Amino acid sequence: MLPVITYSRNVFLPLTFVCRNTCGYCIFRRPPGEGCVMSPDEVKRILRRGAEAGCTEALFTFGEHPEEVNGFLPWLEKSGYTSILEYCYAMAEEAIKIGLLPHTNAGIMTAEEMKHLSEVNASMGLMLETTAVIPAHRNCPGKEPARRIAMIEDAGRLKIPFTTGLLLGIGETRSDRRESLEIIADLHRRYDHIQEVIIQNFCPKPGTEMNAFPGATLQDIQETVRMAKEILPPDIAIQIPPNLADAEKVIPCGITDLGGISPVTIDYVNPEHPWPALEELRTLTKGYMLKERLCIYPKYINRGWFHPRLRDCIKNLEHAVHMRGTFVIPAKPLYEGKAKSVYSSENPDELIVVFRNDMTAFNGVKHDRFTDKGRLNATASEFFMKMLEAEGIPTHFVRMSAPDTMVVRRLEMIPLEVIVRNIAAGSMTKKYPIDEGTVLERPVVTIDYKDDERGDPMINDDLIQVLHILNAEELIKVKEMALEVNRILSRFFDDCGIKLVDFKLEFGKSAGTIYLGDEVSMDSMRLWDKVTGESLDKDVYRFDKGDVITAYREVLKRIIPDAVA
Ligand code: SF4
Repeated sequence: MLPVITYSRNVFLPLTFVCRNTCGYCIFRRPPGEGCVMSPDEVKRILRRGAEAGCTEALFTFGEHPEEVNGFLPWLEKSGYTSILEYCYAMAEEAIKIGLLPHTNAGIMTAEEMKHLSEVNASMGLMLETTAVIPAHRNCPGKEPARRIAMIEDAGRLKIPFTTGLLLGIGETRSDRRESLEIIADLHRRYDHIQEVIIQNFCPKPGTEMNAFPGATLQDIQETVRMAKEILPPDIAIQIPPNLADAEKVIPCGITDLGGISPVTIDYVNPEHPWPALEELRTLTKGYMLKERLCIYPKYINRGWFHPRLRDCIKNLEHAVHMRGTFVIPAKPLYEGKAKSVYSSENPDELIVVFRNDMTAFNGVKHDRFTDKGRLNATASEFFMKMLEAEGIPTHFVRMSAPDTMVVRRLEMIPLEVIVRNIAAGSMTKKYPIDEGTVLERPVVTIDYKDDERGDPMINDDLIQVLHILNAEELIKVKEMALEVNRILSRFFDDCGIKLVDFKLEFGKSAGTIYLGDEVSMDSMRLWDKVTGESLDKDVYRFDKGDVITAYREVLKRIIPDAVA
């Protein structure tokens, strides 16, 4: 059995950057001024985008007691609130409505404040950082170790599933780290409420007092993870943020969790360190079973350590995460295409297809990566595969296991690209005497032999049979299916104000049945706006016609309005 490593899919919401503390390593903190409070509209927009991207957690992290900073309150009052915790409560309610579980890191709070906020939070957190008194925490009332320990203890009394952790390399010693871990272990033994301990390495930042500080070395991080493994009770997850440490080298020391990873927002505390994309996470954890979790761990769900207001949201998200399943990613994909990677699955009859953010054109000569592109194509492909199945076309689609990842039936792929054209465009107008935009008298089916080295040459019926790719009956079946797909999609796109110019399909066989395989997405179709004639497909990228992601989002907006915020 492979070791399990977990992560949570979140959105990061810095409600305010204003903070009463002045930590020597911080670039998060800002003085009161324009943009120092995230507006309710912006919060809701991010929450919706998070839900759309399959996130389960709304991480509210903000400066501590900003009301104590002169000039802050008028900025908060513009949002209609007079205290940051009141604002956080209201935004957490919005998160629950949208279907995300709030987790709040508000700095030091009283037991009463935590109790109130726990009505709308599935879990909460406060980094202990260190038990040492260090110069980096000069003028930081909230960083007094005793106050932090007392708050973690209050959380235990209140039965709040809790996250804490150590910040390494801020001036503490090795024995301070040991002491911090021992205190956390002791608190957990008494209250049984610590879900996870983050071993976070401080990263020196330009413009801060500690810019020249060396930070924690890889060896420090590895050693502290081993120490945590030795000191902490085994039911506490040990977490590293994979955007900060060299995850591949630290994970084997005993890491069991990778914390919150956001496909939508940046790490505002360490903005220079982007989150790994889900596909990179899978590569980083090869040899492990990568499993998604909620911000409240199963043990605390089973115990009912949450307010009844959160029950439905927890239940729905538990189901969604369960449906997405776990990933056991072998060292290498079975197949690495230009924009998709195919992995084996625990089920020998299924494969896992990851839609990557890569975009290529002209047989790979042009190559770029666009954030969110994989998800947009996967979402469209899921939608069309389901639609075609409902209309009687067998497809390889089984289920989605992440917004950019599809579980599919394992097929023996037929090395043909079947192209259906309704309007003359692209290579057709270069090879034959016909003008771009000419509506064809009837749909035209052409077939290419899939072989990159040979440049995917066009192939005819005789060759297909002589090369034993398909027999006559199968060939007729494939062409009939392609024309049926064309009939269904053309009608659908017409209702969405889009002309289906042409598209390509791939097929595969399983147990004697021919299935539609590969994808049906903006990457595989040529789509024009019915009114303006504007391209809404990969031609936008091929021929530098504008922003290809805007075009893809426009298609999704028209076909599945809920999929695009
Ligand atoms: S408490 Fe957090 S936000 Fe405030 S100064 Fe310290 S690191 Fe920055």
